Amino acid sequence: MNVVDSDFVIVGGGLAGSVAAYRLSEFGDVTLLSKAPPTKSNSYAAQGGIAAAIGPQDSPSLHAADTIAAGAALCRPDMVAMLTERAPGVIRWLNGLGVTFDQHLSGEFALGLEGAHRHRRILHAGGDATGRKVMEVILAALQQIPTIQRETNIQVLGLAQRRDGSVAGAWGQSACHPGQPILFRARRATILATGGVGQLYLRSTNPVGASGDGIALAYCAGAPVRNLEFVQFHPTALDDNEQQCFLISEAVRGAGGVLVDGDGTPIMQDHPLRDLAPRDVVARVIYQYITRRQPVYLDCRRISGFAELFPTIYRHCVSRGRNPAVDLLPVSPAAHFMMGGVLAEMDGTTGVSGLYAIGEVASTGVHGANRLASNSLLECVTMALTLADSMKRSTMVYRKTDMHLDVEDPIALFTPDAPEVIREVQSVMWAAAGIVRDEMSLLAGLEQLNILSERYPQSPSVITARCIVQSALLRKESRGAHYRLDYPSQRPELNGWDNVLSQSGRSPV
Ligand SMILES: Cc1cc2nc3c(=O)[nH]c(=O)nc-3n(C[C@H](O)[C@H](O)[C@H](O)COP(=O)(O)OP(=O)(O)OC[C@H]3O[C@@H](n4cnc5c(N)ncnc54)[C@H](O)[C@@H]3O)c2cc1C
Repeated sequence: MNVVDSDFVIVGGGLAGSVAAYRLSEFGDVTLLSKAPPTKSNSYAAQGGIAAAIGPQDSPSLHAADTIAAGAALCRPDMVAMLTERAPGVIRWLNGLGVTFDQHLSGEFALGLEGAHRHRRILHAGGDATGRKVMEVILAALQQIPTIQRETNIQVLGLAQRRDGSVAGAWGQSACHPGQPILFRARRATILATGGVGQLYLRSTNPVGASGDGIALAYCAGAPVRNLEFVQFHPTALDDNEQQCFLISEAVRGAGGVLVDGDGTPIMQDHPLRDLAPRDVVARVIYQYITRRQPVYLDCRRISGFAELFPTIYRHCVSRGRNPAVDLLPVSPAAHFMMGGVLAEMDGTTGVSGLYAIGEVASTGVHGANRLASNSLLECVTMALTLADSMKRSTMVYRKTDMHLDVEDPIALFTPDAPEVIREVQSVMWAAAGIVRDEMSLLAGLEQLNILSERYPQSPSVITARCIVQSALLRKESRGAHYRLDYPSQRPELNGWDNVLSQSGRSPV
């Protein structure tokens, strides 16, 4: 058996995993695994920016208030306070590393506005290429560090557990060598940074591979997962029938883009925040039009300098024959972001010893039932830095001999999902647990997933999808991104109620 030892094993090379690798390498050797190159991560695709209260009229408490309002009485206020207070420091840290955020000619940061933010606090890099620009700087920094071993073609298919249940590494497999798992043993910590679940849905802004492996890995290792019913559907993905839908960032509406129907009539006029209403509200309004077979468009024609402000979006739309300065852009919602995830503290600690979760795969409670725009890149960096600080303070190091004795027990590894399995899951999830759900759709979806699970018992996508559907069944109310036709109201008595699944408690599998 092939075995690789290091202090830290990180699963996922997006922003959360890469920042963690960078900082942890200061006091240990790191193995950074990902199943796809970094260009195929949510982090690389991020357009809009990173939120931080650095404007003159702004403060972390105002940022926290907007985050909590968007979260629909489900955020953990202590976590939100931590995130928003650390945000200006995160920007300074990224700036120090070499990330150049867009500035006005005066030299001040150019702060943008996005949905449900009441102040300008979104920092961009390269206009609408923030994720790519930030990732390029971090990846360049990683290349200089010899104690980081990066593997970009290894899918992790199981966690290596000791007899007491604690995690001491991960089992991975290269796509080039199926059937030859490698044990990546971790002396100090195994960190999940596997991103989101968007690819479990027919329409998604997420890259192929963002199918919730980390949730399945953690869940099967006994870690509690929380609030998985809250999947954010971004209202404005370009409607051009591609598997990975191209996102038209909310910043475009922040700059004056208006959602209109086929007659050119604005469709968000009735909401006090109009086109910048919370994403779930806008997504449902568009969904209602689309289910009546009435197309919805984003009208960007009044935005002056669109090509300079949003170069990535401009280039993509023009390549699809739509010039935003002249044409209306057809849009419809697509699965975008998982608010729930593996229950974790800000330093990534989960319910299982030795296992950490950071970034989108984690549920710290900062997003509640609906994420405030541009808070997730911030969460990735904040969690990675907090994790590294806490690891630096910790003195717990496992002896190599213990590792040899304990983690080599045979375990049931996942089977990488074939494209046809993913496609079946996507159809089920879109119909059962999409933008609107009810008991009938969810029960039908669960039944179909149960059948899939008999056919593909070791499929990570099926396991995660079942957890999502089960969670959506258990929350008998509508709140934030979770909208149930049979329970259309928010139930105040469920404010602050977390929907937790674990193998040792309620279990969908
Ligand atoms: C189009 C788009 C635009 C966005 N815009 C913004 C924005 O403007 N601002 C904002 O704050 N947020 C934005 N988001 C959300 C944000 O980008 C993500 O939440 C964040 O980047 C997640 O980072 P991450 O490091 O947790 O995961 P990711 O960046 O998705 O990285 C996940 C990594 O895990 C790897 N992986 C997954 N499973 C396995 C496995 N089994 N084995 C090995 N490796 C595995 C993947 O290969 C990948 O390297 C956007 C998202 C999208 C899709």
